[in-house]
Amino acid sequence: MKYRVMASGSEGIRVMMESALTARDRVGVQDFVLLENYTSEAAFIENLRKRFKENLIYTYIGSVLVSVNPYKELEIYTKQHMERYRGVNFYEVSPHIYAISDNSFRAMRTEGRDQCILISGESGAGKTEASKKILQYYAITCPASEKVEAVKDRLLQSNPVLEAFGNAKTLRNDNSSRFGKYMDVQFDFRGAPIGGHILNYLLEKSRVVHQNHGERNFHIFYQLIEGGEEDLLRRLGLERNAQQYQYLVKGNCPKVSSINDKNDWKIVRKAVSVIGFSDDEVEELLNIIASVLHLGNVQFGEDEQNNSQITTETQIKYLARLLGVEGVLLKEALTHKKIIAKGEELVSPLNLEQAAYARDALSKAVYGRTFSWLVSKINESLSYKDPVYPGRKSAAVIGLLDIYGFEVFQNNSFEQFCINYCNEKLQQLFIELTLKSEQEEYEAEGITWEPVQYFNNKIICDLVEEKFKGIISILDEECLRPGDASDLTFLEKLENTLGGHAHFVTHKLADGKTRKVLGREEFRLLHYAGEVNYNVNGFLDKNNDLLFRNLKEVICQSENKILNKVFDRGELSDKKRPETAATQFKNSLAKLMEILMSKEPSYVRCIKPNDAKQSGRFDEVLIRHQVKYLGLMENLRVRRAGFAYRRKYEVFLQRYKSLCPETWPNWNGRLVDGVATLVKHLGYKPEEYKLGRSKIFIRFPKTLFATEDALEIRK
Ligand code: ADP
Ligand code: MG
Repeated sequence: MKYRVMASGSEGIRVMMESALTARDRVGVQDFVLLENYTSEAAFIENLRKRFKENLIYTYIGSVLVSVNPYKELEIYTKQHMERYRGVNFYEVSPHIYAISDNSFRAMRTEGRDQCILISGESGAGKTEASKKILQYYAITCPASEKVEAVKDRLLQSNPVLEAFGNAKTLRNDNSSRFGKYMDVQFDFRGAPIGGHILNYLLEKSRVVHQNHGERNFHIFYQLIEGGEEDLLRRLGLERNAQQYQYLVKGNCPKVSSINDKNDWKIVRKAVSVIGFSDDEVEELLNIIASVLHLGNVQFGEDEQNNSQITTETQIKYLARLLGVEGVLLKEALTHKKIIAKGEELVSPLNLEQAAYARDALSKAVYGRTFSWLVSKINESLSYKDPVYPGRKSAAVIGLLDIYGFEVFQNNSFEQFCINYCNEKLQQLFIELTLKSEQEEYEAEGITWEPVQYFNNKIICDLVEEKFKGIISILDEECLRPGDASDLTFLEKLENTLGGHAHFVTHKLADGKTRKVLGREEFRLLHYAGEVNYNVNGFLDKNNDLLFRNLKEVICQSENKILNKVFDRGELSDKKRPETAATQFKNSLAKLMEILMSKEPSYVRCIKPNDAKQSGRFDEVLIRHQVKYLGLMENLRVRRAGFAYRRKYEVFLQRYKSLCPETWPNWNGRLVDGVATLVKHLGYKPEEYKLGRSKIFIRFPKTLFATEDALEIRK
């Protein structure tokens, strides 16, 4: 039922609030702003619990959507549901991801401003599902034409492809995204989706060669082996048995009950053709995937001098054919190292350990760059070209950010360091955009209110990224330093430079209490979301991300067209050292922050109800932790202290002047007086609004929403 106010003013609203009151005991309030005891965390969690029990997984904090993963299919994503949210005011219907989607869409249409929807939460909280639901909403509800249908299809089909290559089963989530993703959906002046663009962040490449117990490699490997047609597997030299492949057995978890690899293979095959991959491209792509599996099975033996030798000839034969390289050269490159010193080439043999390391580095490089190629290929297919004016850009975009959540494992390495740094940056953005800007705006407008205390995590961002003395700078410095630089010297340097920093601890610097739990190879960061111990083992290597020169040479000669594109011969003669992994990540995050800052943000905060991936289980301890580190209580306090809506006087007057005889058709005095006259006529109560220097502030969304309705009725 769609609610309508028949009279101007807010009587109608009161009626609605009363009926909501009777339901409140059972299902809680749909906006935390309506909680009586809004400073109580217990009341907050109780409200979440009530709603979760009733399968009401969505709740607002003002315009922020809080979502709790139901871990079961709910009947709330049908086309009828989409229709219900279309063009309807935020507060008229129950909270939903579609309401956020629609709200952003309408804001983009009416104000012409780019929007972004930031989805955050820990692994398994439902970020990726949320982003898919938003995309589906646009694909189904936005205006369409034949041409647009094709774009919509491609936008939707990009997901299964990226997930096949970039997602994996982890302990936290059977379909965990192992890369960060920001996607712009581009719209034309009619509001029809006409294209898209994806930016990808830091794929967890180490998964290609190693998986922790209970985890898997990227889905695509299992999909290919389970679903690939007989003759395809024969061509690729693969057996239909994941146990045969070293890279697939590390986690001892080839099958997952929630995943049907065979079926997913069909979905992915269909998706790549919708996106526009040619048969040749698919073939080359699969050649690479199969090559990685063969590489993993390349084994080494030792001669009398402890030099490595390849003992698995079959693998080399397949690799040579699939990659289009010479087997002899590949063998040589896998067991030797070439360096150029003073213009002379020096070749030295690798021992067993080094050879295995070189092999794995090659697998990671090949897979990682192929993934980037995949993204650029999808971007090509989504790219918008105006048929009449080829240079013209889309009218506006809505960006969707689905990026890895805060991660803490038993053993945390370089990857977790980067992921958690990314979350610090996003938290910082959230603070900048909501808490801080909210307070600053009240000050600028001369509106009095109680400032809210909040923890500003900028200090932790600086600790990681500051020039010269940030962790990344120190890491890069050690990576560049010739001689005895190692993970441990890196740790030592951290201790020397950062000792005394309030958010950094090592076992040397720790007090008696913490010393026990911090290993000699560890440092601890006190993140805004909690403490994490990082093991420095592998930091230098992963940051350097180097591929031995002779392996690069071999791959640069590959006849595989994809590899040919992503391994550029120019790299070989490039004297400049490539950027380290952490610095690249830092720079791409800085760019991302700029992109997000230039748009109007909406937020979806995802919460994971339990660690068992089970429906109906509400683990209070786990949830309280997330409520804390997502900053939801602070968020609520700011919302309650403040005003739900604000509009520039001219915008407000322009929009609603027809509702008041004195302001219609034109108001000739000062804008603020016009607005004052208008709202008096509309029956706004003094406690419902305030007039600032350039804007009107409206405390409750419902007041504005009643005015909107009055406008609609007049039309
Ligand atoms: P994240 O991206 O935050 O790591 P996902 O979006 O992949 O988490 O969600 C993990 C799993 O939880 C999904 O595979 C799905 O089974 C379940 N899930 C998440 N959101 C929903 C939802 N809205 N409805 C039903 N199941 C969901
Ligand atoms: Mg995800």
